Amino acid sequence: MPEGDTIYRAAHTLDRALARRVVTRFDSVLPALTRIDEDVPIAGRTVQRVWSQGKHLLIEFSGDLVLRTHMRMNGSWHIYRPGERWQRSRHQARLVIETDAFVAVAFNVPVAEFYTARELVREPALRNLGPDLLSDPFDEDAALARLRARGPVEVGDALLDQRALAGIGNVYKSEVCFVCRTNPFTPVDRLSDDDLRTLVRTARRLLQANVAPGTDAGIVTYHPLRRTTGRADPEERLWVYGRVRRPCRRCRTPVERRKQGMNARSTYWCPVCQPEAK
Ligand SMILES: [Zn+2]
Repeated sequence: MPEGDTIYRAAHTLDRALARRVVTRFDSVLPALTRIDEDVPIAGRTVQRVWSQGKHLLIEFSGDLVLRTHMRMNGSWHIYRPGERWQRSRHQARLVIETDAFVAVAFNVPVAEFYTARELVREPALRNLGPDLLSDPFDEDAALARLRARGPVEVGDALLDQRALAGIGNVYKSEVCFVCRTNPFTPVDRLSDDDLRTLVRTARRLLQANVAPGTDAGIVTYHPLRRTTGRADPEERLWVYGRVRRPCRRCRTPVERRKQGMNARSTYWCPVCQPEAK
């Protein structure tokens, strides 16, 4: 599942490749998009900019048209030079935006919709988003209040709620809790404002560390070498995520895993470094 840092990087890469260029070809297998394209063709428009909001990727075209995509579990955007061989099969392509210099292909993207600027601000999926951890400026007090509003929800689950904070996915959820020595099953209302502020700041710092410029090689994939430990060794990139029964990097206690929340997402934690709240 792509997280906020991945979408941010994808948007940045697409922006560099496409912005201020004229679309020479637009192609999609999604009926909702082709209907609009037949009505008001996309080819001939200029890509104005590409940006992200939480895990939503937005592409603005001239003539008041914005394309919103959301990757969910398996979607990805790739960038190719014209004529370059694609790294996924064509039948997985959902939409293609081509300019004279680049071809942007969205594979297996489950959510793709066109909006006018006015429609976009009314889109509930965007309007209800909490503060984006990768936005600058970032409203920390608003983030805190929205987390606080989750009340009895376990903090691991609250961190995943995009209405509280936009950008955290399942990897960061476990990593942020570990770095802050917070037990992920603690209800939010058992945590102090200082605890929550530390979680928010840590999440922001970890995400930001993974969007440093120059970390993408052109092709946007959704399994980047994300790291939270600061170590480059692929075996040592993460603190707890994906490390069930392996020794905690701080205290050597075996890392545990449990399904958490309505969506039964895996949570990893160290029972000694992150004891249950008393
Ligand atoms: Zn530990």
